Amino acid sequence: MTDQTEAPAPATPIYARMAVIGCGLIGSSVIRAARAKGVVGEVAVADASAEHRARVTALGLAETVTADPAEAVKGADLVVLAVPVLAMGEAMAAAAPALKAGATVTDVGSVKGAVCEALAAAAPDGVFVIPGHPVAGTEQSGPDAGFATLFENRWTILTPQARGDAPYQAALERLTEFWMALGARVELMDERHHDLVLAVTSHLPHLIAYNIVGTAADLEEVTEGEVMKYSAGGFRDFTRIAASDPIMWRDVFLTNRDAVLEILGRFTEDLQALSRAIRWGEGEKLEALFRRTREIRLGIVAAGQESAEPNFGRDRPRS
Ligand code: NAP
Repeated sequence: MTDQTEAPAPATPIYARMAVIGCGLIGSSVIRAARAKGVVGEVAVADASAEHRARVTALGLAETVTADPAEAVKGADLVVLAVPVLAMGEAMAAAAPALKAGATVTDVGSVKGAVCEALAAAAPDGVFVIPGHPVAGTEQSGPDAGFATLFENRWTILTPQARGDAPYQAALERLTEFWMALGARVELMDERHHDLVLAVTSHLPHLIAYNIVGTAADLEEVTEGEVMKYSAGGFRDFTRIAASDPIMWRDVFLTNRDAVLEILGRFTEDLQALSRAIRWGEGEKLEALFRRTREIRLGIVAAGQESAEPNFGRDRPRS
């Protein structure tokens, strides 16, 4: 694994033309950040949603806006696939016939094993496929939800193909430079390892949030009014996560099944141990865990991956 943190200031665009397929929260944030940093020239967008295409045009995010991925990628040096994970293969196949020789194709999908396979299967010869995942986001969707600072001080994990030829390495260096210019820190990782790590840090927490909000909503003894009224008691933060895009998260669980089930098994065992500690009044066990988890939270804040501000700094204006 390689960790790079210092971003050089580029004098000229890193990519003269960038095509983004799927211009929602992440796709539009890539465009906003790349434009703000001056690292792309022209931008083309392809999106399946007519409503989102109209918003992309109204927001002035791209010179070309189309429903056709092949039209968008014509002449592009960088193609960013930012559609839900299960749509990646289809988007790549639609773009493939029009890809320029020597273009770099990357993606932002939250699962990497399945996406790496889908992209490799659909990619034509002569392009550089470098899958990736910016570990940054919100519970919002669509082109209006994106913002230019989304990737600042966040990690982007690239999962390059196992090929050591010089042109591929040069394409990888160029893409790394691009993400660093957007403010991200870049790490290279094997796609299977990525999926296991993200199952712990992202996928399982989302599953728990979906489950706890669903359970609370189903409780007959507690009315919906009470759930809303007293939601500040921890539940509110779960509802934020549980508001995340249903299609995106359906795809994550369908494509990262093995890693999620493995981590879920561990989680269930630990939950049983907690349940036992509560049943037997083992306060010291509970306190020891809660002290350890508080330290972990403080470590995340100290690493600059979370804010110590009240309400997680959410009240701060975004640019
Ligand atoms: P989003 O806001 O819903 O945007 C996705 C866009 O792609 C929508 O406009 C969607 O249109 C369009 N689309 C869907 N299928 C398409 C296709 N085959 N061809 C062209 N356009 C298509 O989603 P997002 O949150 O940006 O997520 C995009 C990707 O980023 C996902 O792979 C996700 O795993 C990854 N990611 C998300 C986050 C996050 O926090 N949200 C963080 C990191 C990575 P419709 O609305 O009509 O479907």
